Amino acid sequence: MGKKNNNQQETLINIFNEKKNPTSVFVFLIVLYFVSNFIVIFTSRNAEVVNIMGRVVPSAIITGVFSSVSNIAIISMVAVYRHKGFAAALTLLLVQFPSVVFTIFVAKTYSSIPGLFTNLMAMIAIILIYSNNLAKEKYQETLNAQAITDRLTGIPNRFACTEYISTLIKRENPFVVVSIDINNFKSINDSLGHSNGNKVLIEIANRWKIVAESGASGTQDLVARLSGDEFCLIIRGYATEEDIIKTINHYENVLENKFTINGNDYYINASFGYAMYPEDANETDMILSYSDVAMYDVKKKNSSNHICHFTQELLKDENNLEIERIIRYSIDNDGVFYMLQPQFDINHHLRGFEALARMKEAEGNLISPATFIPVAEKVGLIDKIDSCVFDKSTKFFGEILSYHPADFTLSINVSVRHLMKADFVDEIISTLGRNNFPADHLEIEITESIMIESAEKALECINELKNYGIKIAIDDFGTGYSSLSYLNKLPADLLKIDKSFIDKMNLNESSKQYVAAIISIGHIMNFEVISEGVEDVEQIETLKKINCDFIQGFIWGKPLPENEAKELLLNS
Ligand code: C2E
Ligand code: MG
Ligand code: MG
Repeated sequence: MGKKNNNQQETLINIFNEKKNPTSVFVFLIVLYFVSNFIVIFTSRNAEVVNIMGRVVPSAIITGVFSSVSNIAIISMVAVYRHKGFAAALTLLLVQFPSVVFTIFVAKTYSSIPGLFTNLMAMIAIILIYSNNLAKEKYQETLNAQAITDRLTGIPNRFACTEYISTLIKRENPFVVVSIDINNFKSINDSLGHSNGNKVLIEIANRWKIVAESGASGTQDLVARLSGDEFCLIIRGYATEEDIIKTINHYENVLENKFTINGNDYYINASFGYAMYPEDANETDMILSYSDVAMYDVKKKNSSNHICHFTQELLKDENNLEIERIIRYSIDNDGVFYMLQPQFDINHHLRGFEALARMKEAEGNLISPATFIPVAEKVGLIDKIDSCVFDKSTKFFGEILSYHPADFTLSINVSVRHLMKADFVDEIISTLGRNNFPADHLEIEITESIMIESAEKALECINELKNYGIKIAIDDFGTGYSSLSYLNKLPADLLKIDKSFIDKMNLNESSKQYVAAIISIGHIMNFEVISEGVEDVEQIETLKKINCDFIQGFIWGKPLPENEAKELLLNS
């Protein structure tokens, strides 16, 4: 880990020049040249005709063919192997020159005159090809340099950065990618104007380039600008994670000196997030996005520690952020909708429907409530989803009821957060009024956890709802820590046995007896009981035997879109 000068441009060019032409072809061209020359000399000095496989061929023809071959070998060398090819070709031609001159002028063998001519012409040709190549190469180098250089700051750009990372991955060299974002750069840009903002970026890049090229950090670094105020640092040649932090500190420290723009002083700092190859990620896009995730975590926490190492844990938060974004977008753009899962009595007569929230991501794929409900609860958006499903489903059935007065129950799910809102009951009642949906057709599903978290307030609310004729169901029964005493206090109408109990029910006698006991206790307390997640005929048979009242499950009905639910209701 010596302090070695490390020109960024050179590093990149060296690393990209991997695809060299193979040396074996070069050797082949030299051998081809010698062999064909030997044949030329042999045939021109000996007999007038040569016997090839019983056929008599004039030796002049053989000489002509092989002298062309030797010239092609020479020209290919210059065209393909540039400097090396030119040096070799020129040497070969010059070495041959005196011997041709000797045979003509001293040995007076005039048959070598065409050879002398060819030799001279070949020399002119390779000099022309070489000088033409040189001019093209220079131009190509300028183009290459432009392609890998950021125009504003002159340091490597995003393309250079990703190519460099891909090459390091191909070579299986361990390295670290550090995503860097300048803190509050937007406000600098807004207050100073764009051109002064650019001056700041140039100054930052210059300071970092000096660190990278001086080797002051003790590691081999390459710093690139990806876009705007986003930079990327790639570190190699470290031994421990401490070395990585030390290197990042170097880059952090050079920002500490004030930035003077138009006579005013500014102080700048940045957020650094890093991911390691191969420990954290082993693909270019993956490692870049993971280091970004770590960097965003620094920004989000806004703490004094400006450096963060990527962990899988952060990815979960990141995923939640994406889900939160989808939820917000769906709420703002009328993207929340619902499906209706039918509920039946044990004789397969329709009891009603449970409205279940749905939303889609940008590509149109449905995301499951198991994914978005917990996030919506965490970020305080669940009541908006609940309200949306409630409003849309009561409006839909309110319209049907206006021309088809049917007796059925619409169940909706509410979260603790929503139920605890001061105006929850008012919201329910006013929505029912607006959508012409009768209160006694509505059932509100609450989970056991509501009772555990805030029993008193929940009870107050539930009693109020009951006064309007609204039914109450206890959802996912059996999964919480329900006690008989709270069940006794709860003026519920329906117990919903969670799917997990139904799944196990037919596996052994004790699981069956457990479900039977829940049903009996429910009945003793004057609740009706529904089994959720019923998927096969044997389960229905058992549930009939142990007196379950209702069935909700894929066997008799999956969650349906509005039109199919309407058809089912009209035909029942
Ligand atoms: P839940 O209220 O217990 O709803 C029943 C869930 O079980 C639904 O899943 C339903 O599709 C699924 N299910 C029913 N029968 C079967 C079956 O036979 N097999 C299988 N594998 N699954 C079955 P979904 O729609 O994914 O909803 C999951 C949970 O998300 C719901 O559980 C509920 O707690 C919550 N949820 C759904 N919509 C809303 C809403 O609008 N507001 C609130 N707060 N929560 C909601
Ligand atoms: Mg439910
Ligand atoms: Mg449930």
